[in-house]
Amino acid sequence: MVFFHLILTDTCNLCCSYCRGKIHSGDVEWCGRDVEIDTALPPDLSIDLDDLYTFIERDPDACITFYGGEPLMRSDLITEIMDHAPPCRFMIQTNGLLLKDLEPRHIRRFETILVSIDGPPPVTDRHRGAGTYQRVMENCAYLESAGFTGELIARMTVGEDVDIHDAVTFLHRNRDHSFRALHWQMDAEFAGDAGTRSFHRWLNESYNPGIRRLIHDWVGMMAGGEGVARWYPFLQPMQDLLACRDSWLRCGAGYANYTIMTDGHIGPCPVMIGMKEYYAGHIRDANPLSLPVVEVESECTRCPIRGFCGGRCLYSQIVRPWPDEMRLAVCDSVKNLYAGLVEALPLVRRCIAEGRINEGDFSHTRYNGCEIIP
Ligand code: SF4
Ligand code: SF4
Repeated sequence: MVFFHLILTDTCNLCCSYCRGKIHSGDVEWCGRDVEIDTALPPDLSIDLDDLYTFIERDPDACITFYGGEPLMRSDLITEIMDHAPPCRFMIQTNGLLLKDLEPRHIRRFETILVSIDGPPPVTDRHRGAGTYQRVMENCAYLESAGFTGELIARMTVGEDVDIHDAVTFLHRNRDHSFRALHWQMDAEFAGDAGTRSFHRWLNESYNPGIRRLIHDWVGMMAGGEGVARWYPFLQPMQDLLACRDSWLRCGAGYANYTIMTDGHIGPCPVMIGMKEYYAGHIRDANPLSLPVVEVESECTRCPIRGFCGGRCLYSQIVRPWPDEMRLAVCDSVKNLYAGLVEALPLVRRCIAEGRINEGDFSHTRYNGCEIIP
C-alpha cells in the first residue's frame, strides 16, 4: 500500500505568516543548499486523469491525499477524481475554508481530513488571517452534519509566539469543537529566516518544557480514565516504544509516501516540489508498488536516536536549510520528546496492565499526512 499526495494546484486563498507570507516578505536569506528545481511545472494539475487512474489501479490499497496550495481551490478536480478513480482511499490536507464546496456524498468518502488551525482564535487569526478560526470551526461543524465519520485532525503550526501547552490544551478541550486528533509542526523555518528569530531561546524556554508538560497531561488522562488522546507526535512514537520497534522516516517520504507533481512526475514529498534529482518516476509508466526508495546520507544515519526519530525530515536532510546551531537545536527538541516519552513509558505500561487503556488505543493510520516528529 502506498500513499500519494496529489498536488492539485499551487494557488492558495490564504497567505499564512509561516508559509506564503514568509516567502513573500522578502526579508529572508536562504542559507540552504541550492537544488535544481523544475520551474516549468504547471501551476495546476495538468495530467491525463486516465494515466492517474491506471497508475492507481496497480495498487489494490492506494491512498490519495489531495494537497496544494489549497486543494479545495480545485474542488472540481476532487469530485472528478473521487467519482472516476478506481477504488482507493482518500484524504485531504486543507485550510478548511472551502469545505462546504464539497457535497456530503464526497465528504463522507474521506478517511481522514487534516484541517490547518494553530490554536485559540487570536493565534490562528494572527497567522492565517482575521476570522479564519471562526470559519474553520463552522466548516468543521459542516463536516459533522454532512455525516463525516473519518478522522478529523487539527494540524497546527507553532512558532515563537505560541505556548505549545496552552495551544494543544485549548484545541483538545475546545468548547466549539473537540479536535480529538491533533498534530503539530514547528515553524522551524524553511525560508531562511533563522537570523531574524529567537527560535533557539523559544525552544529552550517555552517549547521543550511545554512538551514535557503535555506528556505529563497526556499520561495523566490515561491514568484518569480519559483514554489515549490522539496527539500524533506522542501517539505513534509511544506505540513504537511499547512495541520496542524502530521507525524509518515517520512521514514516510520516499518509501511509503510519495507526491504526484502537477505534471505527473513522482517526488518523495509534498515540499520537494520540482526537485527533479529526487524524482521516482512518472505516473505514465511507474509501478506504484515498486517505486525507488529515496535515501540520503546525513548525520541522521549515525544518530543514537535514529530509530525513534526516523530522521525527522528528508527535505531538510537534502537542502540543509539551517545553520548548524539551528539544526542542533531542532535535534535537541527531538531528544527532549524522546526523553519525555521514555520517562512516561512505565506509567503507560501500568495503565495498560491495569486495564485503563489498551495497546489498540494507540492504533492509527501511518503516513496519513502527519509528519509525527514536529
Ligand atoms: S535527532 Fe536529529 S540527527 Fe537524530 S535522527 Fe533526528 S533529525 Fe537526525
Ligand atoms: S517531514 Fe520533511 S520529508 Fe517529510 S513530508 Fe514533511 S517536508 Fe517532506
